[in-house]
Amino acid sequence: MEILKNYSLKQHNTFDINVTAKKFVAFSSIDELKELLSYAAQSKSKEFILGGGSNILFTKNVDGFVLKNEIKGIELIKEDRNHFYVKAGAGENWHQFVLHCIKHNYAGLENLSLIPGNVGASPMQNIGAYGAEIKDVFENLEALNKADKAVHTFSANDCAFGYRESIFKSKYKNQFVILNVTYRLNKIPAFNTSYGAIEQELEKMNAKELSIQAISQAVINIRSSKLPDPNKIGNAGSFFKNPTITLKLFQALQKKYSNMPHYTVDAIHVKIPAAWLIEQCNWKGYRNGDAGVHIHQPLVLVNYGNATGKEIYNLSEKILQSVIKKFGIELEREVNIV
Ligand SMILES: Cc1cc2nc3c(=O)[nH]c(=O)nc-3n(C[C@H](O)[C@H](O)[C@H](O)COP(=O)(O)OP(=O)(O)OC[C@H]3O[C@@H](n4cnc5c(N)ncnc54)[C@H](O)[C@@H]3O)c2cc1C
Repeated sequence: MEILKNYSLKQHNTFDINVTAKKFVAFSSIDELKELLSYAAQSKSKEFILGGGSNILFTKNVDGFVLKNEIKGIELIKEDRNHFYVKAGAGENWHQFVLHCIKHNYAGLENLSLIPGNVGASPMQNIGAYGAEIKDVFENLEALNKADKAVHTFSANDCAFGYRESIFKSKYKNQFVILNVTYRLNKIPAFNTSYGAIEQELEKMNAKELSIQAISQAVINIRSSKLPDPNKIGNAGSFFKNPTITLKLFQALQKKYSNMPHYTVDAIHVKIPAAWLIEQCNWKGYRNGDAGVHIHQPLVLVNYGNATGKEIYNLSEKILQSVIKKFGIELEREVNIV
């Protein structure tokens, strides 16, 4: 393992922020990881686990060890009447893994096609898109406890999955390194095309019959046309979560904003699209220097070239404050701030 010093992380985060890591090293096995953790502890360095860097905003140089997880491998570990159980190394690229499953007719991940990043981060925020979340097909994961170096197995229940949430973002934040994830995929697909645009896209594609391949392609087409490509313009997807508010607050706001979009969560809560709130505060297409809000997707903050993480963060703070002022709703950042 080669330890690189004062190493630029620009190629390792989709926001394209040019910060450095005091030390940077990639590991591809649990033994290498253990060795690096011991070394970091001896040199009293803090360590940060990096996947594909697609859900991170670096606001400063990392004064410690950046450990890039490159544990690979995809394996069909068992099957039963209805399911395939497929285990993937944390360092596998997520979309390539999804394509692998689709090729082998393992159903359940097709709606999650083309999400950037790696397998290891998929449980971190219970990635979701187009009416699906990984919790729906999650079997278990193995993670190394940084403190005692023991490997623990987590079931879906243990992970406490929620909307863009898991126990690894809350109670166990920075305590575990996810090594691999096993998904329980279906032998008989349960097609999920309820998310409006998928059906339209399938029609446009002239898909002769419904299949996981067709759904995956439809999702790829929609995402490619709607979302800014991080290879062309720095971003980390949705910057904020969609807030859940009380029905009471919603009804009060509705008197003033009768066209306010919303989705029912339960009898006393509704979810409001953060993109709508941000657009109402006139941020869509805003640009200051190289930090901006995407011209079509107000939920996506962008780096037009040389923005610093601080500049993007400060912009996010202004957006957050303006939404509080106008609607009394506090947005929560989805992106991990480092
Ligand atoms: C254009 C675009 C579109 C996106 N669309 C979606 C979407 O539709 N749905 C969605 O849910 N997300 C979306 N995202 C966000 C992002 O792709 C996901 O959150 C993804 O899972 C992040 O993976 P990563 O490997 O890049 O994680 P990173 O950004 O590298 O890391 C994210 C966090 O997880 C931690 N981490 C990473 N790997 C491990 C590990 N093995 N063990 C312990 N901790 C770890 C890191 O320390 C960090 O705190 C999008 C991002 C972009 C750029």
